[in-house]
Parts: sequence; C-alpha cells; structure tokens
Amino acid sequence: MRLDFRHTRFLTSAAALGGLPADIGREVAFAGRSNAGKSSALNAITGVGGLARVSKTPGRTRLLNVFTLTEAMRLVDLPGYGYAKVPEAERLKWGEMVGSYLGDRESLAGLIQVMDIRHPLMDFDLQMLGLAGELQLPVHVLLSKADKLKRGAAAKSLADTKKGLRGWGTVQLFSAHSGEGVDEAQKLLADWLTGEEKK
Ligand code: GDP
Repeated sequence: MRLDFRHTRFLTSAAALGGLPADIGREVAFAGRSNAGKSSALNAITGVGGLARVSKTPGRTRLLNVFTLTEAMRLVDLPGYGYAKVPEAERLKWGEMVGSYLGDRESLAGLIQVMDIRHPLMDFDLQMLGLAGELQLPVHVLLSKADKLKRGAAAKSLADTKKGLRGWGTVQLFSAHSGEGVDEAQKLLADWLTGEEKK
C-alpha cells in the first residue's frame, strides 16, 4: 500500500509519555545521533520541506516531536543524541524517557535508526539496536548521506552494517540530497503504518 506522506503535519512535542497523543493506531519512531541526518530524512521522506524544523527549535531538541499523517498514523522524532558534552544527569533522563517510550508505547510499530553512512554503528546506535532487539521491536536502518561516498564504498558500508545488525533489522542506503532510497523508505513506512507485513 502507498501512503501520501505529503499530508504529514506537526502535532505536538512531549517532555514525557503523558504528553503524547492517545496510544492508538500505529506510529514509527526515528532515532539517530545528532547530525546523523534525521531531520533531513524526515523532510525528504514526507516531502514536506521544513517539517522537522520544529525538532531543531531551541527548547524542543530534548522532546519527543510528534507528526501525524492521519489520526491513526504518526511519526515520532526522538531527541537526537551523541554530544559528548551532555551532562550525565541529562543523559540518564534521556535514556529513561526513550527507554520507557520504546518499551511502553503500544502503537509503536517500528524504529527507524538514522546513521551517517561514514560512521555507522556507533555506541549510541548499538545501544538503541540492543534495546529494540530486547523489546522485539522491528528496526530499519537508513544509512544517510549516501551521496558522500562512491558506489563501492557505499556498498561496503551497507554490507558491513547488515553484518553488524546480526539479523536484527534491515538496512538501506539513503540520501536526502540525491533522493536515493526515499521510495524504499516510504514503502517500508507504509507497511509498518498500515500493519501490512512486508513480503
Ligand atoms: P540531524 O541532527 O540528525 O537532524 O541532522 P540534519 O538533518 O540536520 O543534518 C545534519 C547535516 O548533514 C546538515 O548539514 C545536512 O545538510 C547534512 N545532510 C543531511 N542529509 C544529507 C544528505 O543526504 N547528504 C549530504 N551530503 N548531507 C546531508
């Protein structure tokens, strides 16, 4: 099934699970280290320019930012992570919120993990993948900024990342700049959001 992602709109930001919309329908979460290309991916996949700008608005970078396609289908942008300077207390708070979101959210159908193709499977990525594996939550990796590498190097990163996932999750090349992989990502999201199994 195809979905028209251009209808995606910002709905709300939440500092805690209680601030999220009712836990019904289906939603897909996006995670990634800061600067991995998560906002650009959200904009490219939905075709709504500037959609994820809200996730970069000062004061909103530590929140769960919720976008809706329809009343029953949502995309949730998880706070970026990976700046070494973040104080320990904030790091713990972040882990608690994201952990309880991933673990408790009934409508969560899957996790899109955005990784810069030049630096995939960093510590934070591995933590997220480990958590998703424990929770049996489907994972799909976007190797972003694929335009930054030549074909051979991109294919190698794809193969290495596939191996690194050890069977938990799927992975694809993606570039918000060239549009590579946008169609593939849209199809996967449509499967998850409609509940149709991927063949
Ligand atoms: P976020 O912090 O994960 O939301 O990352 P952004 O989407 O803001 O992107 C971080 C930086 O990477 C920006 O300078 C983007 O222009 C750049 N970037 C994002 N996607 C691509 C891409 O597909 N190709 C290239 N070459 N650069 C990209």
